Amino acid sequence: MLDHIDLARLRDVLDGPWAAVRNAHREHLDARFLPVYGETGDQARERITRLLTELPAELGMASAFPTEYGGSSDVGGSIIASEMLAQVDLSLMVKAGVQWGLFGGAVAALGTRRHHDAYLRDIVSGTVFGCFAMTETGHGSDVQQLRTTCTYDPQTQTFDLHTPHEAARKDYIGNAARDGRMAVVFAQLITNGRRHGVHAWLVPIRDAQGNPLPGVRIGDAGPKAGLLGVDNGRLTFDHVQVPRDMLLDRYGQVAPDGTYSSPIENDSRRFFTMLGTLVRGRVSVGGAASAATKSALTIAVRYGDIRRQFGTPDADREVLLNDYLAHQRKLLPALATTYALHFAQTELVAALSEVQGGDGPVDEHRQRELESRAAGLKAAQTWHATRTIQMCREACGGAGYLSENRLPSLKADTDVFTTFEGDNTVLLQLVAKGLLTGYRDEFGSLDGWGRASFVAEQVREMVLERTAARSLIERLISAVPGRDDEVAVTDRGWQLKVFEDREKHLLDGAVRRLRNGAATKKDHPFDIFNDVQDHVLAVAAAHIDRVTLEAFVAGIEDTADTAVRALLSRVCDLYALSVIETNKGWFLEHGRLTPARSKAITSVVNGLLKDLRPHLRTLVDGFAIPDTWLHCAILREEPGRQDTMTAHDAAGDWQVVPA
Ligand SMILES: Cc1cc2nc3c(=O)[nH]c(=O)nc-3n(C[C@H](O)[C@H](O)[C@H](O)COP(=O)(O)OP(=O)(O)OC[C@H]3O[C@@H](n4cnc5c(N)ncnc54)[C@H](O)[C@@H]3O)c2cc1C
Repeated sequence: MLDHIDLARLRDVLDGPWAAVRNAHREHLDARFLPVYGETGDQARERITRLLTELPAELGMASAFPTEYGGSSDVGGSIIASEMLAQVDLSLMVKAGVQWGLFGGAVAALGTRRHHDAYLRDIVSGTVFGCFAMTETGHGSDVQQLRTTCTYDPQTQTFDLHTPHEAARKDYIGNAARDGRMAVVFAQLITNGRRHGVHAWLVPIRDAQGNPLPGVRIGDAGPKAGLLGVDNGRLTFDHVQVPRDMLLDRYGQVAPDGTYSSPIENDSRRFFTMLGTLVRGRVSVGGAASAATKSALTIAVRYGDIRRQFGTPDADREVLLNDYLAHQRKLLPALATTYALHFAQTELVAALSEVQGGDGPVDEHRQRELESRAAGLKAAQTWHATRTIQMCREACGGAGYLSENRLPSLKADTDVFTTFEGDNTVLLQLVAKGLLTGYRDEFGSLDGWGRASFVAEQVREMVLERTAARSLIERLISAVPGRDDEVAVTDRGWQLKVFEDREKHLLDGAVRRLRNGAATKKDHPFDIFNDVQDHVLAVAAAHIDRVTLEAFVAGIEDTADTAVRALLSRVCDLYALSVIETNKGWFLEHGRLTPARSKAITSVVNGLLKDLRPHLRTLVDGFAIPDTWLHCAILREEPGRQDTMTAHDAAGDWQVVPA
């Protein structure tokens, strides 16, 4: 039996280091900021744009900017702000993310002092709305191959920005269809007849009245599945003249005579370094996906605690949904994964804040680790959101399908999170690439990953960089006795060992297959990688599972309150064992679990569900989502909504159950 939980203590643990930012949002974002169900696209866009400018100055994602430009130099706080906005309205969060994360973030990270002084104040205050125009119709994942060109002319000291064909138009661009006045445009830089790879320019696209500027063609991306309040559009440039000083030139400069210089010689490496500085967007999308998942779980759990369906012969009331094992099987493992990802995200935000929050030079190695972790957790959190929100919709039956109960918009609005800020499958390959190269300074496009010789010679040991509690995790693993069947499946050391072992084994296997491929398919580097792609993705998934578990374990270790700690520990068991249960096939195939132990895990999971059932409500209340933010009709106290009758009494009459 778990002890009674003091909810305030659980909330303190989950709110973590940015509790003040979370509380400020909870306090100030009232019903005005909530989604309006059933509005048209135009109404949604108008409302979201207005709300963005009405966000109180101390809230929102602009906090990442330096104080001198109106921010508060709080990178971590800006990510937490995006999580909070996501629980209020996902269109508002994405619109804010485009303005302050993508557009403003690119000006800050890729520009230099003169760009900052000229534009950041207006960007932070929302006086100038802008776009982040990278993706083209023809290239979304492989953005190194963008076709838009920006060619320097020393005579006029301007760049010529041009869209050579339809597939090179900028597509899906947030803020483009309606509000953007400027755009950070990514294009191939050409000067003195030489290409220097993709760079970014700050380009005005509309005049003060909102009309497109000469040479700029703007289209609307049209109706879409969700995020109605965000104006996604298309941009085409017909030989637009861009002054030389509008090149965001932190990583590459063009002198008046057209001479190119850069602190990073290699084009590819420079480009990936530029992209790396924009990692904040990926971290906030992952966090926002988890925030939306928490809203959906809160709705489904609370509904399952009031909704009854079917009676039993021995009870005088119908059964609560949450008392069914099948319902617990849906909700609790998803909740446990949400908790695990919460701790992993907290750790990631802390790392982001350390690596990018200071004034000093960025530690290259830590930056690479950060990029890999951000990519992996973005994929894990957004896929988890898509699956879990759908499950929560089903868990609320027909009611879950009605807009007034919030779940349809959570589903529609988070759907694309698996695609933007990097397609998840492509991101997992980035994670795997980091593991295979041991964070070596290897850059290149993701499809080919370099030459076969690179694979044969340079693939090395797995880099067991660890999450926070390094020594604790090593201690727990080394305390596990030699024979698995002597250890309880709830032994934390055993769970950690199993996760680590699976990752190592998968990585070894992928390396072996790549080496074999390199030996037999020498002249076909594409085939070498493509034939192993499923295996490589499995390595990345196993890696993310491991770092997530380790972050959860570290979070529990930091929890002082014993009752909360015990509850989290049980939730962590459920997370670890659910992952093992889901991957049971692999563990059995590889002799890592005996059939008997595999069956035992299923019954231990069922036991955990029983233990945690009384705490289901506490677990979602720990997220501290204000009732108004849930914006969900089925959770409002309305007499008559839930049946209060018993089944037939002995005389065959219906009876009202006293409140
Ligand atoms: C609503 C919305 C808003 C957006 N906002 C912006 C914005 O503001 N600015 C901006 O620049 N962009 C924006 N985007 C674009 C977004 O970033 C891209 O859509 C995304 O990067 C994916 O690119 P793609 O659409 O070309 O998909 P593709 O790259 O064509 O991917 C399609 C499929 O192919 C698979 N695939 C691709 N490459 C590989 C590979 N090597 N191996 C295996 N599978 C592969 C993918 O997994 C995916 O399933 C937005 C998109 C949407 C939908």
